Amino acid sequence: MSERILLVEDEEKLARMVELELKYEGYQVEKALDGRKGLELALSGGFDLVLLDIMLPQLSGMEVLRRLRRESQIPVIMLTARDSVVDKVAGLDSGADDYVTKPFAIEELLARIRAVLRNKSGQSGAPLAVGPLVMDVEKHQVMVRGQSVELTKKEFDLLRHLLENKDRVLTREALLDAVWGFDFVGETNSVDVYIRFLRSKLDDAFGLKLIHTVRGVGYVIKEE
Ligand code: CA
Repeated sequence: MSERILLVEDEEKLARMVELELKYEGYQVEKALDGRKGLELALSGGFDLVLLDIMLPQLSGMEVLRRLRRESQIPVIMLTARDSVVDKVAGLDSGADDYVTKPFAIEELLARIRAVLRNKSGQSGAPLAVGPLVMDVEKHQVMVRGQSVELTKKEFDLLRHLLENKDRVLTREALLDAVWGFDFVGETNSVDVYIRFLRSKLDDAFGLKLIHTVRGVGYVIKEE
């Protein structure tokens, strides 16, 4: 079965060109020409990957990504017009899987798409895990060395987001957006507080070092 790609791009000529190339490669393609429509389609489900331009009318690509990530872990490749480090960091922080800088060679885009899809299919269905810690999302259960760990809902959500982004450094803002929601108002140190709770229940309780602080940036979960 061919994979379905959603292309959110307002430059019609470019969108048409990419669409033709993707179809030639055997993908099913649907296009959206603005951010609002793109988000709506992405949330409607049924896609395997989203190609998301950053500069879009109605709703910027960043905003689309932020809102999308609150509900979905669908792979997203950002298409950025500027070769801007800020865009890339912000995009990856907000949960983009990769980015391609315009103008891009179609071969490069295709290679990135294949890599991201391969990555995702390898993960799907597999339990979230790091070292001796395993999370079963459906059972809402966390086990360390076969021993069940009681977590509150927020702790669980935070741990889940860290595990879904294993080995990737996440900023406090990205964690706040993902776990507490984009409209969260309150103490931004909630992330630090909950990281402490998790450390005490996981790292300290089992003599592990899985949750790491990256000074001045944020947190990452990885094997010791
Ligand atoms: Ca654009």
